[in-house]
Amino acid sequence: RGTEEKEERRAAVALTEPDCLFCKIVAGEVPANIVREGERTLAFRDINPQAPTHVLIIPKEHHPDAAAAGRAGQGLLDEIAREAQAVAEADGVAESGYRLVFNTGPGAGQTVFHLHGHVLGGRGLEWPPG
Ligand code: C5P
Repeated sequence: RGTEEKEERRAAVALTEPDCLFCKIVAGEVPANIVREGERTLAFRDINPQAPTHVLIIPKEHHPDAAAAGRAGQGLLDEIAREAQAVAEADGVAESGYRLVFNTGPGAGQTVFHLHGHVLGGRGLEWPPG
């Protein structure tokens, strides 16, 4: 995409962080394998997949984690849950079951501080998780 288009994409989102990797994916400044785009969300395949289906669903706006998005009170978590179901159906893993995970905080394994729901499916998933 051209610079102008990237700037337009940035401007279309109310909350962005200049150094955030996932904000850059939203703006088209960093490439991603996008599988779904909604008005307020984007879904793309994880670059280091942990299951046959491993898709990240993010809000286009920058919210550091699920707690922050919940506090914002804009229904983004509901929307991510709906998008997760749509991704699972499209990948054919909805019926066998999938996991929707929000790692929240470094101690739980969060490494990117822009909210993302992991959709994992297509293989058996153990409980409790590691
Ligand atoms: O929950 P956590 O913050 O650890 O998840 C971040 C995820 O983002 C990782 O699964 C990582 O593989 C993924 N990632 C990605 N594309 C990037 C950088 C990280 O899919 N460019």
